[in-house]
Amino acid sequence: MKLRRRDAEIGSVETIEKVVTQMIIRSRIDNLILDYQLPSMSNFLVAYRTRQRDAIWQVVISSERPLTAQEICNEASRSVEGIGIATVYRALKQMVEEGQVRHVDVPGIQPHYENAARSHHHFFLCEQCKRLFDLAGCLRGISNLLPEGYRMKRHEIVIYGDCDGCVSRA
Ligand SMILES: [Zn+2]
Ligand SMILES: [Zn+2]
Repeated sequence: MKLRRRDAEIGSVETIEKVVTQMIIRSRIDNLILDYQLPSMSNFLVAYRTRQRDAIWQVVISSERPLTAQEICNEASRSVEGIGIATVYRALKQMVEEGQVRHVDVPGIQPHYENAARSHHHFFLCEQCKRLFDLAGCLRGISNLLPEGYRMKRHEIVIYGDCDGCVSRA
């Protein structure tokens, strides 16, 4: 009699549902463990971060002008889906620390970033579209501006105006 009662218990729709649900959950967990073992999961994350970093680096080196983090993020997300601004800032910070990327700080606008391998040059800031452009080379005789006895260590030149795109749109 006891056995029959137990059969009846096991046979109830609710109990079967419970048991089956548990079996399904168990097998899903097993599959997850098989599919994403911890080492391969971390390999996957490392590979994904490397892809993100590569995409950011590619954007920086293929650009003809310095870019903001947001501009880099927009471009990089074309090749790596789901790349976020926080990831871009983190990667850029690391690349600046490692000397790959140069931080370009022009007063009044957001920080820009460029390939640190670029030789000495200056910038043109378009006051209409706020884009920053590279100018090739430098001016001769800058140190002639210094009074007698002064020594120049470094300098920055920013020329302000309207870029060709904004001039032709006007
Ligand atoms: Zn412009
Ligand atoms: Zn210069």
